[in-house]
Amino acid sequence: MAANPEGVKAVTSTDHEQAQGIMLRDNVRTIGQMIRLYTNKNGTLNGTDYPDGSNSSEYLVQPTTYLPENFTYGQDGPCPERLPSMKGLMEVNVTEIPMEEMELKFSKVFDIDFGGHWKPKDCRPRWKVAFLIPFRNRHEHLPILFQHLIPMLQRQRLQFAFYVIEQSGSQPFNRAMLFNVGFLEAMKDLDWDCMVFHDVDHIPENDRNYYGCGQMPRHFAAKLDKYMYILPYSEFFGGVSGLTVEQFRKINGFPNAFWGWGGEDDDLWNRVHYAGLNVTRPEGEIGKYKSIPHHHRGEVQFLGRYKLLRYSKERQHLDGLNNLHYSPHTSLSSLYKNISVELSPELAPIADY
Ligand code: BGC
Repeated sequence: MAANPEGVKAVTSTDHEQAQGIMLRDNVRTIGQMIRLYTNKNGTLNGTDYPDGSNSSEYLVQPTTYLPENFTYGQDGPCPERLPSMKGLMEVNVTEIPMEEMELKFSKVFDIDFGGHWKPKDCRPRWKVAFLIPFRNRHEHLPILFQHLIPMLQRQRLQFAFYVIEQSGSQPFNRAMLFNVGFLEAMKDLDWDCMVFHDVDHIPENDRNYYGCGQMPRHFAAKLDKYMYILPYSEFFGGVSGLTVEQFRKINGFPNAFWGWGGEDDDLWNRVHYAGLNVTRPEGEIGKYKSIPHHHRGEVQFLGRYKLLRYSKERQHLDGLNNLHYSPHTSLSSLYKNISVELSPELAPIADY
């Protein structure tokens, strides 16, 4: 496929028809899966704690044992993964709250350092996790997300900080490129070992959904209320995912060429698999998320995604972390670092292949 110097937005009528065909097929597939699940109570899609497409006993679901309330752990020892403080289903409240109220509460009561950093004092955190949140025009969602995430992450005894990567300018939203920018910026701050790619409007419903990374990339948001808590298709990798820094570098990050809604998460899935990795998901109720209802304020669908997805493999090492140039404006606030960046296709040139 010849590289398009204007980025990837030019869509011919054949592309358009093809895209419509694939969309229709996707929808039929999703609806088919939902019907099958509803008519067969024992049926499961891959929503469990083992990688997709694998029946290997090595990945059999582990019994869920959480440490007892009276368990004591040493200050110098690693924080356990299954703490008694992790109780399971949480109450989710998506009522809007002013950011100032949130900032006051968390810097005082929850001891969060300026810029949104926190680490446990009673044990050695198992993971240093940078939360990357791509953002544009969703100011009312951020405090709602923090309100749920911060106490949950503290109960999980993870070291963390938040990076809000805000797209300025008038180009269509590029979620994937924002994640790449966030990754490169976060790594300038601290030697993070785990990256969580988190949509601002996805609120976890279960505090046992452990936000650390693992030997394989993780898809945290396996069950979304907006999809009736059913995985829409087995390669679905949207909403909230996590990779170690090493895994993310190995796959050359996200693609930069997806302008507008859709497809970039599918491409990430392809990248992970072409790199010989698999995706794991939390089991049962643990992977539940509520999406904050909102209007898609002028967001455009990226119809060119189907064409790009056919060339995921060829593009993987040409487009990603290694061809990205950008000039960020960063500022710190109480709960996060804001990275504002104007994006355009010229920032991620891609050679012919
Ligand atoms: C899109 C993905 C999206 C999924 C679920 C797919 O058609 O390509 O980006 O996450 O639908 O909405």
